[in-house]
Amino acid sequence: MPKTNETVLEIDLKALEHNFNYFKSKIKSTTKFLGVVKAFAYGNDALKIAKKLEQLNVDYLAVAYTDEGVGLRKSGVQTPILVLHPQPINFDQLVENNLEPSIYSHKILDCFLNAVSTKELSKYPVHLKFNTGLNRLGFTENDVDALIKKINAQERFKITSIFSHLAASEDANEQEFTLSQIEAFTRISSKIEAQLTHTPFKHILNTSGILNYPKAQFDMVRSGIGLYGFGNDIEIDTHLKPVASLKTIISQIHQIKSNNSVGYNRAFTSNKSMATATLPIGHADGIGRQYGNGKAYVLVNGKKAPIIGNVCMDMIMINVTDIPCNEGDEVIIFGKGNSAEEFAATANTISYELVTGISQRVKRVFIN
Ligand SMILES: *Cc1c(COP(=O)(O)O)cnc(C)c1O
Repeated sequence: MPKTNETVLEIDLKALEHNFNYFKSKIKSTTKFLGVVKAFAYGNDALKIAKKLEQLNVDYLAVAYTDEGVGLRKSGVQTPILVLHPQPINFDQLVENNLEPSIYSHKILDCFLNAVSTKELSKYPVHLKFNTGLNRLGFTENDVDALIKKINAQERFKITSIFSHLAASEDANEQEFTLSQIEAFTRISSKIEAQLTHTPFKHILNTSGILNYPKAQFDMVRSGIGLYGFGNDIEIDTHLKPVASLKTIISQIHQIKSNNSVGYNRAFTSNKSMATATLPIGHADGIGRQYGNGKAYVLVNGKKAPIIGNVCMDMIMINVTDIPCNEGDEVIIFGKGNSAEEFAATANTISYELVTGISQRVKRVFIN
């Protein structure tokens, strides 16, 4: 790989394929696979990732909001797309683009029925979302009877699947809770199936669920973070390949004397002669202020260089005193040798937040 000449997010589609195959190997060949591509495919590039997953014969894709799905359709993605968190204002657009809504409340159900009735559609595919303990979105077990009555009284839409979402599938200490969620989901599903004339497919597992609760794979699994190379577990991460690497270069090197300050608010002061390097990446690119002042480090010629002082909007400064380097040298913010997981952990956050936060200003380059 040629070294970079500017700040780029390098996206390795071969790594995506590797991770996809890894998770496929963890489930039965008959279990469907949904790839989660919300939030620009976790900060990568929704279209490129969706197209690659489509090429790999993924069964379903999921986005959070309607607009995200519309974008994929406009670019020719044909795989079924589940919209996890639609709003009524977007229902016309949603059906015009052949997107499939998660129906998570009575209000959403009533509004969607109204939308498909106005358009005189029939048997439009929808997915019923149940809250089994995350307390975020979804119907409860107590809603089932009223819900089925409403559903069976119409033919405008059809329940394609029933699903729920785990609250702590990565946390071994929460196994009992997770199993109780799976049990509740099983109960709800049987209750619904008994009252419908067809059998919807069922799904509850996210990435860590696939790894820790494979018996609960039902008919489909939904993976996001795992596809991008993170398994919420150090051991699992050794089997995965990070899709994204954030790289930049050294714009300028300064030799500073003892008792000089660096950056805004003079947040860093040297206690000896030092070399500092300025990089063209800042909080507007997604490297927030929480990473500054010695928290996170980057890699310069394979050596760790801490971020010093406050992170600026478009720049950070690093300490390169003991690292042989030159202006123009490549710097790895996260990637090989400094995983996004480790980088995120320096500021008490997780890979999900770091990777989805890399702003659209950062140029995406692809390796396949
Ligand atoms: C984001 C999301 C997922 C993906 O979770 P990962 O932990 O990234 O695999 C799955 N299901 C739902 C409902 C989600 O919102």
